Amino acid sequence: MASRALSATRAALRPHKSGTRFLPPTIARSLSSTPKTLTPSGPLSARSSLVAASRPSGAKRNAAAAAFVPHPVVTPAKDGDELKELFDGPYLAPSAGLFAGQEGLFTYGPLTHAKALRPLTERTLLHVRAIVERIGRAPTAGPTELRLVVKNLDRLSDLLCGVIDMCELVRNAHPERAWVAEADRAYDRLCSYMNELNTHRGLFEALVATLEVEHSPPLSHAERQVALTFLRDFEKSGIDLPPERRARFVELSDSLLGLGRSFLSNASAPPVPTPPVEIPEAALKGLPPHFVDAVPRVKGVALVAPGSWESQVIARYAPQGEARRLAYVGNARADPDRVGVLEKMLAQRAELAGVLGKGSWAEVALVDKMAKTPSNVWGFLTSLADHHRTQAADDVAVLARLKAQALSGMDKPGDLPPLYAWDRDYFSERHVQNLAPASLAPLAPYFSVGTVMRGLSRLFSRLYGISFRPATPAPGEVWHSSVRRLDVVDEEQGTIGVIYCDLFARDGKPPSAAHYTVRCSRRVDDDDVRGDGLPEGWDARWGPGLETEGDAVRGMTGRYQLPIVVLCTDFGNDANRPALLGWHEVETLFHEMGHAMHSMIGRTEYHNVSGTRCATDFVEFPSILMEHFVKSPSVLALFAEHYETGRPLPPSLFENHMALQSSLAALETHGQIVMAMLDHQYHALVPGEAVDSTSVYTALQERVGVIPPVEGTAWQTQFGHLYGYGATYYSYLFDRAIAGKVFSTLFAADPLSREAGEALKKRLLCWGGGRDPWEMVGDVVGGAEGEAVARGDKRAMELVGGWYVK
Ligand SMILES: [Zn+2]
Repeated sequence: MASRALSATRAALRPHKSGTRFLPPTIARSLSSTPKTLTPSGPLSARSSLVAASRPSGAKRNAAAAAFVPHPVVTPAKDGDELKELFDGPYLAPSAGLFAGQEGLFTYGPLTHAKALRPLTERTLLHVRAIVERIGRAPTAGPTELRLVVKNLDRLSDLLCGVIDMCELVRNAHPERAWVAEADRAYDRLCSYMNELNTHRGLFEALVATLEVEHSPPLSHAERQVALTFLRDFEKSGIDLPPERRARFVELSDSLLGLGRSFLSNASAPPVPTPPVEIPEAALKGLPPHFVDAVPRVKGVALVAPGSWESQVIARYAPQGEARRLAYVGNARADPDRVGVLEKMLAQRAELAGVLGKGSWAEVALVDKMAKTPSNVWGFLTSLADHHRTQAADDVAVLARLKAQALSGMDKPGDLPPLYAWDRDYFSERHVQNLAPASLAPLAPYFSVGTVMRGLSRLFSRLYGISFRPATPAPGEVWHSSVRRLDVVDEEQGTIGVIYCDLFARDGKPPSAAHYTVRCSRRVDDDDVRGDGLPEGWDARWGPGLETEGDAVRGMTGRYQLPIVVLCTDFGNDANRPALLGWHEVETLFHEMGHAMHSMIGRTEYHNVSGTRCATDFVEFPSILMEHFVKSPSVLALFAEHYETGRPLPPSLFENHMALQSSLAALETHGQIVMAMLDHQYHALVPGEAVDSTSVYTALQERVGVIPPVEGTAWQTQFGHLYGYGATYYSYLFDRAIAGKVFSTLFAADPLSREAGEALKKRLLCWGGGRDPWEMVGDVVGGAEGEAVARGDKRAMELVGGWYVK
């Protein structure tokens, strides 16, 4: 079970959704029915520097001088030219000095070597235990201590996440095995302690007591929000159950972990290879002879293992429909064992929901989401499906027309053959070939990494008055020589955070894009560390921790630890020229930077609601919004230019590429809607009810889908996100709908409008998770519609379902 009161769940402890980018519906992907991938995120902390180098090779960052001093007003870098140089210039050869420096990783003093994670872990545990005891005593320690429970829980969470989240980044990105091993060790140890705390009665009871008492002055809105977030997470852990039900809860949770693992490994494995799919040799006509010759045959029948490369080639490229059909059915054929694992998982989730006193797993999962209830989600999805079905059917008609041509050799409009599941990829491929002439020049030469980073800085400076300033990492501060450090500079507030960019692929690094929160924003000057009751010199044996005294921020009371994030991508690189990005990579960089800016701007008093620590069905909104900006001609005009000639991107070239991108997009989106509906229906199961997952899927395809279901298949066992998302797969579509609406409301007229940027910043981004997202979205949308949306009820969900998503 995923809930963890002190975690991370929404931001740190486990692979975190904001880290991930769903793949957009491009042509390449519209050909595939596989779900999108998800990736992790993590956290860390460091002191933000005051004096930033304006050139990568120039001035040294002065970390010591950086902290604790109000930042001067800094003029934004000269429109980002040095950014281009930073990312497009030749890389230094990796040097040992980068990894073993006196500054420590992220300029954390203690982290000069991998083994330093051990004393840090022990120190963190000691300190956290002291805070746990302190909170436990609070209900009988007088009004001041009781009042401090929220703050102390937040501090406790920050202490643990500060190390865990940093270790998550190191585990994934550090090239040295010693660091990875030590980070794994620290991560496991601290996570297991955190899991204990998630069911800690003393913490829970103190929190309940704090919420029940009248404080003077009353708890602030933010304090209450933070407290309720903790409370909901505790409740999800079954903390308040009577002993017998609690025992059953633990039993089911353990069992579900095992079932989840089996389900995921089934979902990512090819189908069982036997028996092979039998395809009459004649049906392979039209495939390249060398391919056909290599396929094993017995008496004129080709024998192909389902899920094998050969089988996939046939399913996609065989001109004969019969061959495609046989291969398709083989690849998705129902496997009773795998179906059994899924259905058992769904039934146990429902039972666990019953133990918690809820009507379904969806009810459990949605309690802290914008959507709130299963019927709200269903209202949203049906509204969305209604709006998209016609467009998806139009896409199907395009493909059916190609099929008609292929069958009869001529186009007979109005009399289209049915389009089957095994036709989709084949005719999509043909459609793309028709649209994309070989003469279409590529876009990548207009998007060197440095050009795009410069464009991002220019965009943020127009919208928010915020720009990036290159800073030279101190020795030991970064984990690889290609990692670049950017200080994020607000024209009024000075440095507001740090973004490390680890953009290039290398051996051992995950092949995906992610945003890791290494350190969250939090107010630190009012921490009452003395009250933790630790004896003088308690940490002498372990050395210093990662705490900072914080920085003053103009316009805010107190001192704050500044956010630190890492962007990881796996772009290819070439020693002889700048790294050039394909369109999908440009979108990815914009997307991840949307998360990073949410972390930078969402600076709250409390760690637990800062930046991307908001409802998980809202967290993708700021990043998806960036995908709208990147497609806008006036934004592209800010930066897209040929890396050799400096020529701006020709609008017609871009339009041709976008036409290609968006073709068949409605069909892809409709497929996503059906998947979200399936996820919803499976998790709406009531306790004790059995589910026939195949007939639910078949019925859904018949009712909502635009391509008929295929007998004998059970694709649902390949839908791995049913485990990780469990009733929240609608989230990405939901955030796409909101992003489309917000972009058209605020930025359609002028995507570079400072006024609109400020509105978004002040009404939404700066709040992180500290304000009801419905209120924020309603505020941004404005008018009667905004008011209706701000209510966050069923009607609001349906309204969002009617917003543009394609
Ligand atoms: Zn994302």
